[in-house]
Amino acid sequence: MYPEGSLPASAVPAELLTLNARWAASVTNFDPNFFPNSAKGQSPREYRQQFPTNDLSSHCVLQFAINGPPDANHVIVVGHTSCGGVGAALNAARDGDPILPPLDQWLAPLVERIKKLPDLPNQTLNNVTKESVKMQIENVCNSDAIKSIKKTVYIHGWMYHLENGFLEDLYLTREIAPSGGGPAPGGN
Ligand SMILES: [Zn+2]
Repeated sequence: MYPEGSLPASAVPAELLTLNARWAASVTNFDPNFFPNSAKGQSPREYRQQFPTNDLSSHCVLQFAINGPPDANHVIVVGHTSCGGVGAALNAARDGDPILPPLDQWLAPLVERIKKLPDLPNQTLNNVTKESVKMQIENVCNSDAIKSIKKTVYIHGWMYHLENGFLEDLYLTREIAPSGGGPAPGGN
């Protein structure tokens, strides 16, 4: 894609995607059932998939990371296929299925977002997961950590495919330049 040594800063994740494809192919070569098995169920896996506006822990991690090494200028929001959390949010938004506390609070913003999608009865889990990635990117862009950056950063949206190990670029990348103070439009 780019000649050796001429990678622009915005293309670094492209290199990661290339390495991911190599890794996924080698894992499949070693164990053809690895990814099909990992796509079968989501337990016991971390239940997160979100960057909520009010979650101090996430915001502190982002602030610390983005103000670390000078070349730390990429934030990658990664959703994954067959997500139990997004599935529960979709079922709650579409069918009114209950979600047990405190997960109901954790997923409430996502449930509200899903309710606003057009043609809700026919929304697929993958489509809703992409919507969730979009939402988390918006939350990242509106965070204090990103609003106070002193360098240009790139926020990317990817999907990790449990069924084959591949990372998919959802082409949601946003380039955020330092604003020079003052909250960004749409922030709070
Ligand atoms: Zn998940």
